[in-house]
Amino acid sequence: MKEIVIGSNNEGKIKEIRDLLPKYYKITSPKDYGLKSPKENGNTFLKNSLIKAKYFSKKTKKICIADDSGLEVEVLNNQPGIYSARWSGKKSNFNLAISKVYKKLTKLDKNWKTKKIKARFICALTIYGLKKIPIQSLGVINGKISKKKIGDKGFGYDPIFIPENKRLTFGQMSQKLKFKSDHRSIAFKQIRKFL
Ligand code: IMP
Repeated sequence: MKEIVIGSNNEGKIKEIRDLLPKYYKITSPKDYGLKSPKENGNTFLKNSLIKAKYFSKKTKKICIADDSGLEVEVLNNQPGIYSARWSGKKSNFNLAISKVYKKLTKLDKNWKTKKIKARFICALTIYGLKKIPIQSLGVINGKISKKKIGDKGFGYDPIFIPENKRLTFGQMSQKLKFKSDHRSIAFKQIRKFL
């Protein structure tokens, strides 16, 4: 059985990517190899996903698929962007990251809740070690920031993101529903033919 390493130490992401991958792969993650994530010093989602995919593929000598993703809030100059994970601190506390988004919005405009706060989720995927050159794709889903945190499904910023033309946050959606429109599925559809 061919093996593919999901190049992430984020349990939420590992679960979602695992569910997107074809079932004929043996799926592992860096934890199975005792590997920590490399420093993400790229300045774009695509560069950071390549850094992770290359690093884990070289270390494990296996094919690796890595994702770099995040939330961009338009009025916050597209923050947190590539720093989305870092806003949650060392302990990956997303209550902290979400309250940071709300605090920054309030600081900017105390009436922000009466306005539509445009946001988008972006996902860059890289598959390393399958073909001679890395395979990459980018997926984007537009939406807005919810006035309050709602829903306990998904992970990360899901409870505050309402995708375009929907009333529910990603945090209120089943994984099946989220996968119909989310950034990760959009990116994955472009590269699944290679797997
Ligand atoms: P990284 O790509 O591992 O550096 O982290 C990206 C961060 O963006 C994660 O820690 C997530 O919290 C956030 N993020 C990315 N995709 C999603 C998503 O589908 N839902 C919620 N948060 C996400």
